[in-house]
Amino acid sequence: MKRVLITGAAGFLGSHLSDRFIKEGYQVVGMDNLLTGNIQNIEHLFPLKEFEYYHHDITKFIHVPGKLDYILHFASPASPIDYLKMPIQTLKVGALGTHNLLGLAREKKARILVASTSEVYGDPLEHPQSEEYWGNVNPIGPRGVYDEAKRFLEAITMAYHTFHQVDTRIIRIFNTYGPRMRVEDGRVLPAFFSQAIRGEGLTVFGDGSQTRSFCYVDDLVEGIYRLLLSDYSQPVNIGNPDECTILQFAQEILDLVGNPKAFVDYRPLPVDDPKVRQPDITKARNILGWEPKVPRAEGLQRTFDYFKTVVEPG
Ligand code: UDP
Repeated sequence: MKRVLITGAAGFLGSHLSDRFIKEGYQVVGMDNLLTGNIQNIEHLFPLKEFEYYHHDITKFIHVPGKLDYILHFASPASPIDYLKMPIQTLKVGALGTHNLLGLAREKKARILVASTSEVYGDPLEHPQSEEYWGNVNPIGPRGVYDEAKRFLEAITMAYHTFHQVDTRIIRIFNTYGPRMRVEDGRVLPAFFSQAIRGEGLTVFGDGSQTRSFCYVDDLVEGIYRLLLSDYSQPVNIGNPDECTILQFAQEILDLVGNPKAFVDYRPLPVDDPKVRQPDITKARNILGWEPKVPRAEGLQRTFDYFKTVVEPG
């Protein structure tokens, strides 16, 4: 039986990855310090003998007894509100945490896949963004703590690959959504769904003309699974190229939720908010045979079904 360590296991992506690897017949070691994770996301796994849980902060030395075949590094605050509140932790988990995990991978002779982000492209001057684009990042702006931590994560991962022959994979994740996103994490989808269900204003930042491209979580997990099992060690974008404006996104959620009390409430645009974002997924298509399958309307419906269970209607 293959054994995989998943950091950030109680988070949105980590918990879906834990489910998937258990379904594929792996022994899963979940690790989290619950800074932004939610233990309820993995409560259903605790009775399984295929699942172990370590409460641990990966910026400290990591000890995992026994063999490890794979490491998936998904621990980090990931919403702009969270990393504004926890800038030092965000830098430390991307830098020190990644360093510790690369050392663990080397020691265990495990393959390690690290979660990078479309934020490495910053406020992009190329559109859509391919892996060859080096990005337009403000290192000292409010988002710099996340963007630069993830850029460092990529740099140290490639260094371990080149100098220590560690078997590495780097995924650049674009906006992803689905059940188990934290209601109060501040990202656009949990914000809009909770506001629409409660009958409040949907806080559209700026004039809502900025764009994002939203990928349903099951599609992302499939891309991660394929990349891990591939032999490709350069970064790969995984995301859904179906781009929309934030105002259009608000309208879709208003229509879906159908609460007559909800409305669009314009608010100031945050500093350094990227104006556009769309992944070029040519590499994922060619190398992994992957592309997203779940259209936004279907993904939003499934996500609405989840948010109905965790948000009190108003
Ligand atoms: N946004 C918004 N209202 C909110 C939260 C976010 O209009 O309540 C906008 C935000 O300005 C950005 C986009 O939605 O342009 C996506 O924001 P999110 O925080 O989800 O992630 P980002 O893609 O910026 O990392």
